[in-house]
Amino acid sequence: MAFSFSACWQCGQPVSGISCPACRTLQSPPAGFFTFFGIPERLSIDNADLQKRFYDLSRQFHPDRFTRNSERERQYSLEATAILNDGYRTLRDPVKRAEYVLKQHGLDIGEQRSKNVPPELLEEVFELNMALEEMREGDESVRPQLDAARERFRGMLADVDGELEVQFRTFDEGQDVLPKIRATLNRRRYIQNLVSEIEQIAWAPSR
Ligand SMILES: [Zn+2]
Repeated sequence: MAFSFSACWQCGQPVSGISCPACRTLQSPPAGFFTFFGIPERLSIDNADLQKRFYDLSRQFHPDRFTRNSERERQYSLEATAILNDGYRTLRDPVKRAEYVLKQHGLDIGEQRSKNVPPELLEEVFELNMALEEMREGDESVRPQLDAARERFRGMLADVDGELEVQFRTFDEGQDVLPKIRATLNRRRYIQNLVSEIEQIAWAPSR
C-alpha cells in the first residue's frame, strides 16, 4: 500500500503525501493505518518506531496548528488526528493489528461463537464447565481445580502467542498464512474467554 498520486486541492500540483510539497496545504488523509504511518503492511512491527512516528505525526497534524487555516484544512487535521489515534491503538497491539490486517484482506474474524470449542479442548472445557457450575452453587472445594485450570489455560495463551509470532514472520516473508492466523486468533480468543470466565466466577469480589 502506498499513497496514490493525486492533485493538490489547493494548487493542483501532484501530491503523494498528506501535505502538498508545493504549497504545504493539508490534503484529505488516507484511511489505511499502514499508509498513514508510512510503513509497509507488516504483522511484526517495531513498536518503538511506531511510537516515534505517532508522536511526529501527532505534532504535524495537531488541530491547534491549523486554527488560522481554511475550514477544509481544519477538518482534515481533525480527521487525520482521529485516524492517527485509532491507528496507533490498533497497530501497537499484536492481536488488534492482526485482526486489522485480516479485515483489510477480507478475512473478518467475526464474533467467536462459544459453541465452537477447539476439538483438543473438548474434554477439558466440559470438566471446566462442571466445576464452574459447582462454584456458582457455592461449592468451594472446586477452587483448586479452577486455579489449576486457569494456570493451564494461561500457559496455553502464552503458547498461542508464540505460534502467532512465528505466523506473523511467515506472513511478512510473503506467504499467505492469513487463514491460519485467523484460526490461531480464534483459538486465542476462545482460551482468553475461558480464563476470563474462571476469573469472574472464582475470583469475583465476595458478596
Ligand atoms: Zn498545493
